[in-house]
Amino acid sequence: MQHHLPELVELNHLLDEAPSSLTVNIGHTVEVNGKSLPIHVLTLGNPDPSLPAIGYFGGVHGLERIGTRVLLVYLRGLINRLKWDPLLHRQLEMLRMVFVPLANPGGMFLNTRCNPAGVDLMRNAPLDAQEKVPFFLGGQRFSPNLPWYRGLPDAPMQPESQLLSRVVEEELTHRRFSLALDCHSGFGVRDRIWFPYAHTAKPFPNMPEVHALKELFEQTYPNHNYVVEPQSRQYLAHGDLWDHFYLNARTAAGPERVFLPLTLEMGSWLWVKKNPTQLFSRQGLFNPRPGHRLHRILRQHLLWLDFLARAMCGGDHWLPHGSNRLRHKKMALIEWYGWKAHS
Ligand SMILES: [Zn+2]
Repeated sequence: MQHHLPELVELNHLLDEAPSSLTVNIGHTVEVNGKSLPIHVLTLGNPDPSLPAIGYFGGVHGLERIGTRVLLVYLRGLINRLKWDPLLHRQLEMLRMVFVPLANPGGMFLNTRCNPAGVDLMRNAPLDAQEKVPFFLGGQRFSPNLPWYRGLPDAPMQPESQLLSRVVEEELTHRRFSLALDCHSGFGVRDRIWFPYAHTAKPFPNMPEVHALKELFEQTYPNHNYVVEPQSRQYLAHGDLWDHFYLNARTAAGPERVFLPLTLEMGSWLWVKKNPTQLFSRQGLFNPRPGHRLHRILRQHLLWLDFLARAMCGGDHWLPHGSNRLRHKKMALIEWYGWKAHS
């Protein structure tokens, strides 16, 4: 077979057109079936560590190509706007942006969720769930030939996971305020924005910040259609990378730093419902078919991606403090963790 990873071909085309202000690094190269597949780390904007940063990640699960596609469309827009948009340049003076649009190229090349070693990267962190997880889906150590394999106990994380860990540490979590958005698909009928935790149903310490961000988004775009919730509301899992990165950052930097790792879970079940023939294709369960629907999906998430970058620039104007933070905490506990409101 020829090297055929259309997402990588498209990324390379984009990078050919990109100005030198976009820094391109190969974080790791995956060898699979005699092919060398690079994992790109792209950075843009002001590296000053006192400024906020945002990271966009996609393709962690090789089957979920749509996450990578959405990021490529967003990147294309940014690269083109760099040529003519002074407001984008102003934004980049205030913000660091980092992209890993295709984090598991070996898995995408092989059409598998896991990486070429059979490990599900989103179950690969050295972190066990504290409560009961769903059998298999929550992560398993029986066999790499079955889905949701965590890898061997006590083994180092997979190279793809290690690269993500490095990018998060070097570009995001040493800052006062940072956010990550990891783009996935395949769960449910609604588009969801998940925040930690996945390893426990306990409340996420930065829920007031997530709640304030949600309120900001609702005020700015009242007609949005995302469900924002902790992942633990849907299911718990072992080895979640974002829980792991978040807990590491909290241990290293202390609770006064704010790091918000979010996951965009595009609700693909509706795509299947409207086109049942997709049920017979593994790709179809995770990705919209080309055409009309694909275009709409690629378009509709751009707003959210761009909103997040702007919100990061404006953090001083909306990050809650004092009694306002308490108000958000209370609303978050009621909305997401089953607390009853007492007057
Ligand atoms: Zn996924």
